[in-house]
Amino acid sequence: MISYIGVGSNQQDPTKQAQQAIEAISALTGVELIKQSALYCSAPMGPQDQPDYINAVVAIETQLSAEALLDALQAIELNQGRVRKDNRWGPRTLDLDIILFDNQEINNERLVIPHYGMHEREFVLYPLFEISPNLILPNGTHLSHLITLCDKNGLTIVSEVNHCS
Ligand code: ATP
Ligand code: MG
Ligand code: MG
Repeated sequence: MISYIGVGSNQQDPTKQAQQAIEAISALTGVELIKQSALYCSAPMGPQDQPDYINAVVAIETQLSAEALLDALQAIELNQGRVRKDNRWGPRTLDLDIILFDNQEINNERLVIPHYGMHEREFVLYPLFEISPNLILPNGTHLSHLITLCDKNGLTIVSEVNHCS
């Protein structure tokens, strides 16, 4: 199965957190890293009194079930100091969300796939488009179409000369 995972961090050296998370994902048993996007810098969603985020999207090939993959991703989050708090979309060292899993639609207590927020999140759509420009969602929607509807909202690629604030 091909799965796409969204990576986000805005605490404790977000660039390092993202890179470390991608290494941890590729080291998982039953997971092979296929592609990784550049690192992007995005404005926070929700509460604005927090630092900008570093984001990326990776494509993996996996033999794991979606539930087992979520378990593994949550273990990586915890290992990198993620503390689940009540304030939704508050600052965090690491967020790993399953954006897509194969061509499946999943709706249960633990998982909503495709990720419910992907359509309006520039920090998901643009990195995803970078690594998979011809992607089609399970409902037939072309990613290239979603991109035309989603403002970049100041999203930038992080480079040597362009550091995230
Ligand atoms: P958002 O889901 O809006 O991006 P968040 O990523 O900060 O917010 P978390 O605290 O990381 O939310 O996760 C809350 C719960 O979301 C998890 O315990 C998990 O069971 C559930 N969840 C549902 N669908 C997914 C998915 N596609 N990927 C990851 N977690 C998911
Ligand atoms: Mg999230
Ligand atoms: Mg999450």
